[in-house]
Amino acid sequence: MDEEVHGIVIVGGGICGLATALALHRKGIPSLVLEKSENLRAAGGSIGVHVNGWRALDQLGIAGELRETADNVTEFHDVWQNENNKSVVVPVRGELRWVKRKDLIETMAKNIPSGAIRFGCHIADIKPANPGSHGAILTTLDGSIIRAKALIGCDGGNSVVAKYLGLSPPKSFPRLIVRGFTRYPHGHPFGPHFLRLRCNGLFVGRSPMTENLVNFFVGVWHPGGSVTKDPIAVRGLVLEKVKEQCSDEIVEMVRDVDTESLIVLTKIWYRPPWQVMFSSFRRGTATVAGDSMHVMGSYIGQGGSAAMEDAIVLARSLSRAAGSGGGGGELCEKKIGAAMAEYVRERRLRVVRLSLESFAMGMIWATKSMLAKLACQAIVAVLGTHSLGHTNYDCGRL
Ligand SMILES: Cc1cc2nc3c(=O)[nH]c(=O)nc-3n(C[C@H](O)[C@H](O)[C@H](O)COP(=O)(O)OP(=O)(O)OC[C@H]3O[C@@H](n4cnc5c(N)ncnc54)[C@H](O)[C@@H]3O)c2cc1C
Repeated sequence: MDEEVHGIVIVGGGICGLATALALHRKGIPSLVLEKSENLRAAGGSIGVHVNGWRALDQLGIAGELRETADNVTEFHDVWQNENNKSVVVPVRGELRWVKRKDLIETMAKNIPSGAIRFGCHIADIKPANPGSHGAILTTLDGSIIRAKALIGCDGGNSVVAKYLGLSPPKSFPRLIVRGFTRYPHGHPFGPHFLRLRCNGLFVGRSPMTENLVNFFVGVWHPGGSVTKDPIAVRGLVLEKVKEQCSDEIVEMVRDVDTESLIVLTKIWYRPPWQVMFSSFRRGTATVAGDSMHVMGSYIGQGGSAAMEDAIVLARSLSRAAGSGGGGGELCEKKIGAAMAEYVRERRLRVVRLSLESFAMGMIWATKSMLAKLACQAIVAVLGTHSLGHTNYDCGRL
């Protein structure tokens, strides 16, 4: 049976895994990313990156390149159609741009040394290394063994590393969400404004990415019931609902979506805020980051940015532990464990806040209990969710 030994192993090559590998690389610390897909998972429309995410991207040294293909959005327009078109305009704090997931992932990957990402490597099981040693033994789906001195789980909501740490599986809200982007060859008429439109049981988000490209999602409340995951069929289903309730420009945007960019979700996964508050996110020299730590759905559009913040803080802690200058110092297991503990301490309150805000926003939409709705409305009012208070955060220098 094949057996390899490595230093820092990152499971998952999504936004968080690649950001972590890049951040470590910038500090002169090598790592190996193990990704189960056969190539970069670059599909999936775009994500909104607020000022906190741009600060992290600046530290990773790739913000400038990404800004070139993503225009700044300056205002949020919130419209409640079933309340006489009540509308509120919220200025964006700092910076907000919708970046194609493909651009983000590819830009990170090309800045990581070749050979540091291994594709087609699905980790099926993790066991602790021998007693007295903090490392972990990873088994791949095809039976190969990889020994890791340090293990970072960036393997998303359904994380094998989170399971190894003893974390509970995430929970879900039932939602039918279609997202993608639509091309406007002659320019779109929406200006630099993000629209959030609520109608009966329908939630539409529309954000310009460039002069000719607009990102959108449509969320439909579907408690229970089986739904096809075929993107074209779901687009048809959602289009019927949009036609009943929305203006022609929204109907056209959904109808003309670039089908390559279409993504369908039937559930929104989240780790409840009380789990984020009290879970132990470290076991010896293993920890988690990104969705594996705090999957939070899309209600405040912060999962990706929070994952990049995690990457910066974790790489900074590990680099401090390696000694000033980073690259030259030796990272023994004791130092790695202490650095990971420091990382978890530093991230805890930040990710609890984000998880709580996202959870409260989801519950306002999902719950039938008036009391729960009022409690969640109070939480978002106190935390300033609608005025984007959570975006005003700086994870610091790498
Ligand atoms: C509808 C929706 C809209 C969103 N919009 C926004 C937004 O506007 N802004 C924002 O910041 N965030 C947004 N998010 C959240 C954001 O997409 C996620 O938080 C982010 O992608 C998390 O990145 P990650 O790398 O932690 O996890 P993932 O992107 O899930 O990556 C995990 C990677 O690990 C790999 N993997 C999994 N298991 C294994 C294994 N056992 N072995 C090897 N590899 C494995 C997977 O193949 C994958 O590549 C949204 C989420 C949703 C659902």
